[in-house]
Amino acid sequence: MLRGLAQLIKRNNPLINNVLNNQKVTMSFQKHSRRIEGLDKNVWVEFTQLAAEYAVVNLGQGFPDFLPPNFVKEAYTRAINGDLNQYTRAFVIIIEPYFDCYEPMVRMAGGKPVFISLRPKPASGRLMTSADWILDPVELANKFNKGTKAIVINTPNNPLGKVFNREELQVIANLCIEHNVLCISDEVYEWLVYDGNEHVRIASLPGMWERTITVGSAGKSFSATGWKIGWAFGHKCIIKHLQTVHQNAIYHCSTEAQQAVAEGFEREFEHLGTPESYFICLRKELQVKRDRLAACLASVGLKPVISEGGYYLVADISEIDVDLPESTETKEPYDYRFVKWLMINKGLATIPVSAFYSSESKNNNKNFIRFCFVKENTTLSKAEEILKEWRRTPKVQ
Ligand code: GLN
Repeated sequence: MLRGLAQLIKRNNPLINNVLNNQKVTMSFQKHSRRIEGLDKNVWVEFTQLAAEYAVVNLGQGFPDFLPPNFVKEAYTRAINGDLNQYTRAFVIIIEPYFDCYEPMVRMAGGKPVFISLRPKPASGRLMTSADWILDPVELANKFNKGTKAIVINTPNNPLGKVFNREELQVIANLCIEHNVLCISDEVYEWLVYDGNEHVRIASLPGMWERTITVGSAGKSFSATGWKIGWAFGHKCIIKHLQTVHQNAIYHCSTEAQQAVAEGFEREFEHLGTPESYFICLRKELQVKRDRLAACLASVGLKPVISEGGYYLVADISEIDVDLPESTETKEPYDYRFVKWLMINKGLATIPVSAFYSSESKNNNKNFIRFCFVKENTTLSKAEEILKEWRRTPKVQ
């Protein structure tokens, strides 16, 4: 589409055509806002491009390789064929796109991000689960001070799949209340919790409704990541500010897609708790896929951390013997080099987990890679073949 657009622009505008073709034109706008300085490198841009070039099987970026359910696709088609092709009335409900990158978002908003890591506790004699990754309450309390404006939480968490339990959320809630801090709760994988785990909304804890913005995603809920429909809800005293920003920045998302998602929810509401519910079906299917991929990873020595929710599995690569010398030029963390090696040499795309850490912590978290399992069984089979074939002859790289 972009190539077509560029051709059209060039054909219709000789001036732009000259500029586009003039290699000597130098940018006179070299100075850019300090707020976006250093935010240009992006793991999704880099690895999605590499995956398109090298990967036979893509378990990298988190998107389903199957279609959204018929009931939302049909609702979308009806909306396109009906009278829903124009602007949405703003403020019906806020529907926002979901952005993955909290750190650049905080910086662009003029904030200073402060980080705290989930710490893995050893799981002797069994596979680790995402529940073994713990937030230290004392360390967390020490991060709060007079300047703290907000805390961002993500449950089920991407990339680990940790589902914060009620007690863990209560610790966070108590600190938010004590320090009068806003909580932004990213719950885009809310329906995808496994093994009977419960998804708890921090907004439902006493004293939190009026200080929490809860974020959800149709992309993740209805397997339609390209529709770019999300939402945020909370007490009207906070949401009204969000509405102002939304109104003046995005205005609104595609009207038809909003309609399709709304109908999707109505249908889900009717089937709540029944076997026909898409959310229940998807959760069941994904749990089987998670177990299958986890078993395969464990069998080839890539120790998986069993996720309690979401659609990713993080695996430990520290015991895998691949010789990947560090380049003094790029200084890429080991997991970046490993993921590139796996993609280019074996055709399997994954994502380096250090991409999910701040620059200060990257080097302490370079021994994990992330696999996405919201994929057709045929895709997972191909991934298994690649992994098994590679590990059968581990020394021959
Ligand atoms: N949330 C998805 C993931 O974690 C997609 C991220 C993105 O493409 N920005 O893979």
